[in-house]
Amino acid sequence: MKPTSIKLPRTELFIDGEWVPGNGGTFAVESPTDGSVIAELHSADAGDVDRAVAAARRAFDSGPWSKMPGAERGKLLYRLADLIEENAASFAGLESLDVGKPYLDNLAIDVDMAIQTFRHFAGWADKLHGSTIPVPNHMGRPRFSFTERVPVGVVGAITPWNAPTMITSWKLASALAAGCTVVLKPAEDAPLVSQLLAELVAAAGFPAGVLNVVNGPGHVTGAAITGHHDIDKLSFTGSPEVGKLIGRAAADQFKHVTLELGGKSPQIVFKDADIEALAPIAAASIFANSGQTCAAGTRVLVHRSRIDDVAGALAAQAQKQRLGDPFDAHTTMGSLINASQRERVMSYVNAGVEQGAELVTGGKALDRPGYFVEPTLFVGTNDLKIAQEEIFGPVGTIIPFDDTDEAIRLANATPYGLAAVIWSQNIGEAIIASRALRVGAVWVNSWGAPDPRVPWGGMKTSGIGRELGLSGLLANTEERLVNVVC
Ligand code: NAD
Repeated sequence: MKPTSIKLPRTELFIDGEWVPGNGGTFAVESPTDGSVIAELHSADAGDVDRAVAAARRAFDSGPWSKMPGAERGKLLYRLADLIEENAASFAGLESLDVGKPYLDNLAIDVDMAIQTFRHFAGWADKLHGSTIPVPNHMGRPRFSFTERVPVGVVGAITPWNAPTMITSWKLASALAAGCTVVLKPAEDAPLVSQLLAELVAAAGFPAGVLNVVNGPGHVTGAAITGHHDIDKLSFTGSPEVGKLIGRAAADQFKHVTLELGGKSPQIVFKDADIEALAPIAAASIFANSGQTCAAGTRVLVHRSRIDDVAGALAAQAQKQRLGDPFDAHTTMGSLINASQRERVMSYVNAGVEQGAELVTGGKALDRPGYFVEPTLFVGTNDLKIAQEEIFGPVGTIIPFDDTDEAIRLANATPYGLAAVIWSQNIGEAIIASRALRVGAVWVNSWGAPDPRVPWGGMKTSGIGRELGLSGLLANTEERLVNVVC
């Protein structure tokens, strides 16, 4: 099942259409499944970031990108989508090597989503338009007012490690379709797919400087992007802690900003829910990508009368998971990203036990190379540390409620507001409940990756702004008004 050979991408920085060495030394990319070194990548210092921003600036201000007709930009984006499709096995393989996620999941979900995302936004590239607005005469002379949608300029995109193919495609496709140019800094734990993407951007024939990729540590390369005066928008996905730094830096320089941050999403299981049907999906929402998913449904709020049924059904699903080699077709859960993430997850498991939650299943790190933690379920209360803080590991807490008001109150009672799931056979009840949830997205009787056609983003600590869909496209534009007095 493993592709016979996974060709490693270039290791240098991609600036102004060229592969160039970085001045910040190199860093090792390690396999999370056995700790071996996969590649040594070049690291960008502040000077390299300056060069990348200057290239993006040229391609935007005087270069061919922002002046290219939208239909032509769209053609290049379609070509890039075709190239990603042709290289789907390489993207899925690199993501498995880098992140430890099952190869087949990468192929079916992440890479497919990236292809769909580029195609979706390619179609938008020639459909951005303004409006004409009827206005009264100006000082007795007829006046004609219209608006245009213009790209914001150079976008600094900073991404996390948990789903690099998917999340990078969200940021690039919408920005490029709008006519922006991009300086991308991938997460240092999972940079390989972005290198391959840059190779394909060059192969597709995008003009130099439209996409620049600079790897390196967050506090060096990321900070140089964040504070750069020639960047017009920061598009960040990652932790709330770093999100705050990005938001402050954006405020200092009046940059546009989109922040996609963490989550602690509730799944509300109403009394009449079909537990047999929901169990595999509810479990996937906790354990997919070993729980390293921003929208993971890690708080399972269950009507008190169904607690034992739900705990039993989810525990059975947890015990069915097969942990191991992401290239083995039978593997359903890979590893965590690195040793410190494993320590972090285990510290939450220990906190759950110490605070008196009932451990239903799991709770151990595997004694083998790599960073594997068993799928773990607790029954507890919403005030516990494991129910309040984002763990980013395969740990769920089942929490009882007595009536709908209490379910809604508990669902909203964390700092986060990314997503929620409602399990109910009464669709009216589900819609009414969805309206009371302070979250950016609600699934009813389902859970899964967002679709490129619909907006994605959070409320509260889960972020500001939206990616994907028309909202994600417009977030890369500004509205300009033109008044003509005739
Ligand atoms: P992180 O915040 O540690 O890192 C994200 C990126 O920020 C990395 O590229 C990192 O190098 C960079 N960075 C770190 N310090 C920086 C600094 N001082 N200045 C500029 N950049 C800096 O996040 P992570 O651990 O890679 O990812 C996990 C987090 O991402 C979780 O909280 C998860 O919920 C969130 N996430 C959210 C979404 C969403 O759509 N809302 C999607 C995926 C992941």
